[in-house]
Amino acid sequence: MQLYNTLSAKEREELIEKASKDRLTISFYTYAHIKNTEIFRNHLFIHWNEMEVLGRIYVAHEGINAQLSVPAENFEVFKNHLDSITFLENVRLNIAIEQNNKSFLKLKVKIRHKIVADGLNDDTFDVTNKGIHVGAEKFNELIEDPDTVLVDMRNHYESEIGHFKNAITPDVDTFRDSLDIIEEDLADHKEDKKLVMYCTGGIRCEKASAYYKHKGFKQVYQLEGGIIEYTRQVNSKNLENKFLGKNFVFDHRRGERISEDVIANCHQCGNPCDTHVNCANEACHLLFIQCEACATKMNNCCSYNCKEIHELPFEEQKKLRKGKHASNKIFKKGRSEVLKFKKSQ
Ligand SMILES: [Zn+2]
Ligand SMILES: [Zn+2]
Repeated sequence: MQLYNTLSAKEREELIEKASKDRLTISFYTYAHIKNTEIFRNHLFIHWNEMEVLGRIYVAHEGINAQLSVPAENFEVFKNHLDSITFLENVRLNIAIEQNNKSFLKLKVKIRHKIVADGLNDDTFDVTNKGIHVGAEKFNELIEDPDTVLVDMRNHYESEIGHFKNAITPDVDTFRDSLDIIEEDLADHKEDKKLVMYCTGGIRCEKASAYYKHKGFKQVYQLEGGIIEYTRQVNSKNLENKFLGKNFVFDHRRGERISEDVIANCHQCGNPCDTHVNCANEACHLLFIQCEACATKMNNCCSYNCKEIHELPFEEQKKLRKGKHASNKIFKKGRSEVLKFKKSQ
């Protein structure tokens, strides 16, 4: 029985092109108690592989977090399959606004310790004691309230290209850092301020809101379904959009445009730009913002050093990498002293 990918990304890309079927990019998550993660993982892989689902899915004892792409014609079957799993019945699916048939090229279902790397010890507080979920309309109202403190629970490279007006955007690399900074900053306002938070699809706020309640915050709100669902509601209900710029997403598209504002700048020349790229030097792969002119000039690299390496014959590059850590596996997003125009927020 096939439990793992047999096609390379390139072969898959060609297949998708040939099939020319529309695909939907979908994400969902839920906290649940999953006893045997291995069996559950294999169950998903077997069924989803059959439905030609592609994507990155994390399964843990605490739940599931999935980003995937489904052929539109298989959506019904896929949805029925989800509904057949007790804790996934009627789970809210975030469907991407901009469709891209190549948002994922493989199906990877991975067993993880946690569904979000949050650095928190779950035993210390009750994750199910969450904040109040609000939809787009109520959220718009809340964030105009002078007693509200609006916090972006995402990392620096995400809020850099887009965030809500007047949001606090902690300059952090991890969720854990964000939690601490906010708690410290708002220590004197645990009772009198409304703590309103948001993230990409809502999952980080599930934990964060429970955490802050545990820490003594009295009025904790979270944007239901995150920026993705907010945008959907703003469009379908014709509400005012208070989000500026792009929503950073974790697939090949890297960002979904929500408003026409470009709030970031090219990290190499400083011109307005909000396009994230990865350095073309395989040994670097740094995530950063690069405009088209700089991409041409730098041959898609983050530095002259990387450009030099990238332009070497492949075999020479391999020799250079030998014995060194694969740095693209290290957490290295948008931080490098060569990027002169990277603003800290
Ligand atoms: Zn530039
Ligand atoms: Zn580089």
